[in-house]
Amino acid sequence: MVHAEATTGADIGANLAAVKAEIAKAAAAVGRDPVSITLVAIAKTHGPDALRAAIAAGQRVFGENRVQEAEAKWPPLKAEVPDLRLHLVGPLQRNKVKRALDLFDVIESLDRPALARALAEAMERSDRRPDLLIQVNTGEEPQKNGILPQQADAFIRGCLDDLGLPIRGLMCVPPVDEEPALHFGFLKSIAERNGLAELSMGMTADFPVAVRFGATMIRVGTAIFGSRPSLAP
Ligand SMILES: *Cc1c(COP(=O)(O)O)cnc(C)c1O
Repeated sequence: MVHAEATTGADIGANLAAVKAEIAKAAAAVGRDPVSITLVAIAKTHGPDALRAAIAAGQRVFGENRVQEAEAKWPPLKAEVPDLRLHLVGPLQRNKVKRALDLFDVIESLDRPALARALAEAMERSDRRPDLLIQVNTGEEPQKNGILPQQADAFIRGCLDDLGLPIRGLMCVPPVDEEPALHFGFLKSIAERNGLAELSMGMTADFPVAVRFGATMIRVGTAIFGSRPSLAP
């Protein structure tokens, strides 16, 4: 894999094409239409040249893990390219909910009741209503965000029925040292029994597996933009 500073626009275009070819191959293996899978290009730590190269190569859906970083990078690009769609994939603090609503089209990291209430209140006062995914901590890792699997059904019902939130699906980040397929299958079963269509799962290391297990959104950073500075999460 190339390094961030060595990743040129041409590399990014080629990397995007390679990722899409892998998505198509994994989809074909299980009889899925690749059009049903959205590639979310995770742009955290990468600067305007990299973002512009991806946009020039036709990429329109991007993800960031921090509200503040996204606010510094995306408003000018969104003004230039109106069909860009931005996903928040990192933890959201309640005091940044309003700013997140203003900037993001999808928030993938709804993970606790207090945040659900804050989102519902902020949406009432705003004309912005981004799609929401609930992040599930399928590996029950203490250091990781996400609602615990045994609390997921009640949380989903509360978000939909009590708060009227636009919940579209679920997101997970499996433990690094476990077989991801188990977690992807588990997430899919929780989504299915709750009637949710969207499944955001799979990153650079495991997106072909996620596609085979039903992902409708995959979040790929390194395979598109190259490696990130080691300080970044
Ligand atoms: C950084 C990040 C990704 C992308 O990871 P890569 O391994 O670089 O593809 C996906 N999802 C989340 C939540 C992330 O924070």
